[in-house]
Amino acid sequence: MEQNKENMMVAALENGSVIDHIPTDKLFTIVQLLDLEKFKEEVVIANNLKSQVMGKKGLIKISGKFFSEAEISKLAVVCPNIRLTVIKDYEVKEKREVTLPEELTNIVKCANPVCITNNEPMKTVFYRKDMETLKCRYCGKEQKLKDIKLK
Ligand SMILES: [Zn+2]
Repeated sequence: MEQNKENMMVAALENGSVIDHIPTDKLFTIVQLLDLEKFKEEVVIANNLKSQVMGKKGLIKISGKFFSEAEISKLAVVCPNIRLTVIKDYEVKEKREVTLPEELTNIVKCANPVCITNNEPMKTVFYRKDMETLKCRYCGKEQKLKDIKLK
């Protein structure tokens, strides 16, 4: 039954994206990150939905929105393990589990004030050390995902 209800919500979208499996405490962080307050097309934001896997979860449905890889990387940094569904002409075109990429270019800031990326106009590059830690390519500083600042 739960699955059917979910499918109905997704099916109602003609073109756009659905972000699912959002931890309830991260929902509004993502709303802010995506600047949805200013978004002009249809947006559905739902929280505390019942989830068999997570207990409770958040979900965002955005009409006419298709994410770039850079946007998906940002989502992954803020909220690893979400599910992204792309809808075109009422059909699911793509469904993927978003995880933290192995390399992130110009997505996050380095926490080391003397790092060259904080002192020169250049892109940051981070490697994934593990699912909770990123490492700066330039100064080697390791940074926990929960403390990370986006660029
Ligand atoms: Zn650095």
